[in-house]
Amino acid sequence: MEISYLRVSVTDKCNLKCFYCRPDNSEFVPHDEILRYEEIAKLVKVMTKYGLKKVRITGGEPLVRPQLEELVKMLKSIPQITDVSLTTNAVTLSKHAEKLRKAGLDRLNISIDSLKPDLFFQITKGRLEDVLEGIKVSKKLGYDPIKVNAVIVKGLNEDEALDFVEFGKEYGVEVRFIEMMPIGGEQINWSEDKVQPLVRIKSRIEEKYGKLIPAISIGSGAARVYKVPKLGTKIGFITPISNPFCDGCSKLRLTAEGHIKLCLRTDEELDAKTVIRYGTEKDLDRFIKKVLIEKELSNQKIIRSGYAFSDCRRIMTSIGG
Ligand code: SAM
Repeated sequence: MEISYLRVSVTDKCNLKCFYCRPDNSEFVPHDEILRYEEIAKLVKVMTKYGLKKVRITGGEPLVRPQLEELVKMLKSIPQITDVSLTTNAVTLSKHAEKLRKAGLDRLNISIDSLKPDLFFQITKGRLEDVLEGIKVSKKLGYDPIKVNAVIVKGLNEDEALDFVEFGKEYGVEVRFIEMMPIGGEQINWSEDKVQPLVRIKSRIEEKYGKLIPAISIGSGAARVYKVPKLGTKIGFITPISNPFCDGCSKLRLTAEGHIKLCLRTDEELDAKTVIRYGTEKDLDRFIKKVLIEKELSNQKIIRSGYAFSDCRRIMTSIGG
């Protein structure tokens, strides 16, 4: 197995409070425990020997960590890294987009779960208009594509699917619908009846626009991407619950405190920080070989179980979604 893709969380702090992501009583990792940018770059460099080309920066909310552009520069200076992207709630993006672009950031994924300002506030405790401003500024700066991720929760925002498609056209962004996952244990209050299988959303969209046309998109990862007839825009569906995609998955996550998380379905993690901080390059090399073996075993275990279990107790904001 090669590592194709690494998600790097730079902080477990966030300036929003989405109910399915960050419970009220969440605690933060102490500053000293958080990986420094140089330490992240050191790991990424060694991982390129094992195929790594794409890095996504995430959090918590990555834009709350100061001088994020310094990390972008470090990653972009590694010759094998061809794609550096950022997942953000975009609340403060209009302030940061330009310096990040100058530092070499290639792409943006922006989370918006509702296009209704009131519901957006109810879900996140933030202001939709700040996010929309961030998108407008980023479009002008030439970020392409910009993807908008919407977690669809049954009975909450599923009725906005067609609005999201129109929004994609209006703002020139690719919209991706995501099924809500059971991440964070009891604290998050997930239940199966909150999951809207996205095949229903897809049919609703097809009723209005005609049959969706399979398409590809840069960095589409787990998403099944389609072109919307008549509009010409792209949309995607990420279906971890109704149609999982573990076979061949080589996606890894690095948490802010330096743990490699193998999969969102389990709490299996390996401590990378100790090796990065105190080990030699050879130790780091050995560690990554071990990660690859463990990742393969983890995929197989999940597939063999028929995707029956999902017991990730760590909350999403401390993982790096
Ligand atoms: N703060 C950034 C943001 O809002 O995009 C990055 C981190 S956030 C944890 C990354 C993504 O994870 C968001 O799109 C969020 O909606 C998604 N997410 C969080 N909890 C989730 C869950 N239980 N199921 C599916 N997606 C989830």
